[in-house]
Amino acid sequence: MPEKTIHFKLVTPEKIVFEDDVEAVYAKGVKGSFGILPNHIPFMSTLSIDIAKIVKNGEEIIFSVMGGAFQFKNNEAVILTEAAEIGSDIDTARAQLAKERAEAALGKAETSKDVKLANNALARAMARLKAASKGQ
Ligand code: ATP
Repeated sequence: MPEKTIHFKLVTPEKIVFEDDVEAVYAKGVKGSFGILPNHIPFMSTLSIDIAKIVKNGEEIIFSVMGGAFQFKNNEAVILTEAAEIGSDIDTARAQLAKERAEAALGKAETSKDVKLANNALARAMARLKAASKGQ
């Protein structure tokens, strides 16, 4: 019998941010966005710093995901990432401040390492603001 759900787990080094049976998982891989429905063939991707989305009981839940890896096999989907938050849990004022700090750091960056670090912090803040606004 084909399954109707995917067992989805969003894991950081600190905790399991979210775990449940869902109807679909969407995320942004470094090669582009993808969506997984139940009974999809096995699939793996590295993830961009962006949002991910699941559908549970017909409702969307949005997450910010700070890169990492995605694996799907036997109707089990796992995201392993350095940090992730449920959109509705995100502190937008904190993310806005992080964005401003990153933009200032980018303006003052002298080495390629400075630029890389600032761009990374900016991407994290933008992903959080995106997840928070879409998660309303
Ligand atoms: P900041 O400069 O605001 O700390 P950051 O990008 O350096 O942002 P991370 O190192 O990615 O933060 O995350 C550290 C911890 O704080 C993680 O547990 C992450 O989930 C949490 N976190 C970071 N920013 C936010 C936010 N805006 N709202 C809620 N949790 C956040």
